[in-house]
Amino acid sequence: MLYQRSSALFKEAQGVIPGGVNSPVRAFNAVGGTPIFAKSAKGAYVYDEDDNRFIDYINSWGPMLLGHAYPPVVEAVIEKARQGTSFGMPTALETEIAELAVAMVPNIDKIRFVNSGTEACMSAIRLARGFTKKDKIIKFAGCYHGHSDSFLIAAGSGAITFGTPNSPGVTGGTAKDTLLAIYNDIENVKSIVEANKGDIAAIIIEPVAGNMGCIPPVEGFLENLRQLCDANDILLIFDEVMTGFRLAKGGVQELKGVDADIVCFGKVVGGGLPVGAFAARNEIMDFLAPNGPVYQAGTLSGNPLAMAAGLAMLKEINADKGLMNRLGEKTKYLHNGIAEALNKNNVIHTINRIGSMISVHFSEEPVVDFESAAKGNNETFKTFFHGMLDQGIYIAPSAFETWFITDALTYEDLNETIAAVEQIAKSL
Ligand code: PMP
Repeated sequence: MLYQRSSALFKEAQGVIPGGVNSPVRAFNAVGGTPIFAKSAKGAYVYDEDDNRFIDYINSWGPMLLGHAYPPVVEAVIEKARQGTSFGMPTALETEIAELAVAMVPNIDKIRFVNSGTEACMSAIRLARGFTKKDKIIKFAGCYHGHSDSFLIAAGSGAITFGTPNSPGVTGGTAKDTLLAIYNDIENVKSIVEANKGDIAAIIIEPVAGNMGCIPPVEGFLENLRQLCDANDILLIFDEVMTGFRLAKGGVQELKGVDADIVCFGKVVGGGLPVGAFAARNEIMDFLAPNGPVYQAGTLSGNPLAMAAGLAMLKEINADKGLMNRLGEKTKYLHNGIAEALNKNNVIHTINRIGSMISVHFSEEPVVDFESAAKGNNETFKTFFHGMLDQGIYIAPSAFETWFITDALTYEDLNETIAAVEQIAKSL
């Protein structure tokens, strides 16, 4: 595979864009080499500037549940664009997508649309603090909730002690209000709550983690968090930016039967356009401006192109009763194929899978939290990544990411992927 044009474009981009990219993971720092510059995409495939074709398992980091350039989404955007791209006034379309989202997702009465997952989580935290009149939040090491200050807190500091910023620019004052807990460890969370009695506004969690590879919650973990929150007047925030409208049409709340107090969305809800959202029951959402005192706003929030794409996407997901099952079956097939190929070549690995999310960890022990995820062999991952790329399979350029399965993938595509794993496994 040749990447000449991508190399030249990357060089040029580095002159005018920091690191040549507008979001860091795209730069291939973790795996080395030149990032692939995308030219177009259709269905299961992405095409780069050198006209290479890749079977895509990133899918814009999640949004493309039905594949790239999905016709109903594309048509909806084109039609809307002809009528004006932004008004800064309310539109009927916003109510239509809100009504559908509220109908699809359990346990929410109202939803507010924003422009990214970061905005959704940042706003959810402010709302939780305003509503509870408390300052501290608990987040889990290895969970990602966007790049707003409260969430950029280093893992590894003592869980009960104050956090420290891991990004310069985050003030110590902000960091001390974010407490770090261990994913899937309820006793750890309990001890943090106990040590900070009466001070915690919210616990925010990816109810299925996808940002340290894919890590599903262990049996009872979410239920226990729910109980802990109820007993201590803490709001439970599910960050379903990755899982919402993906793992079930109502997200993890539906899948696991556990209610959150506030839910954050992004990715799929925007059908590939910049959208995020947060939602809750009336009592909480009515605390938000203009009805309530907690301020939150956006010039382009509820943008007609974004809402048109999102609505077209949600309608498809809502109407297709077999979709989740099909996605789950394809992912299971891929899981079995990859496991067999790696086992045949004695490559140590652990595969985590739930619904249409899957990740391959080059580690022997179960991967249940950040510490175990970090034990994966990164050198093996690098070889694996480049071996797959050179065979036309595009997976995320970091071991701490999830593969996203789309409905556009055929069993032929999956077989091609498994064959590529078999090939590269010989040199791992
Ligand atoms: N929450 C989760 C769970 C995410 O996976 C992401 C993005 N990967 C975000 C929040 C942030 O979303 P965005 O990049 O749209 O700001």
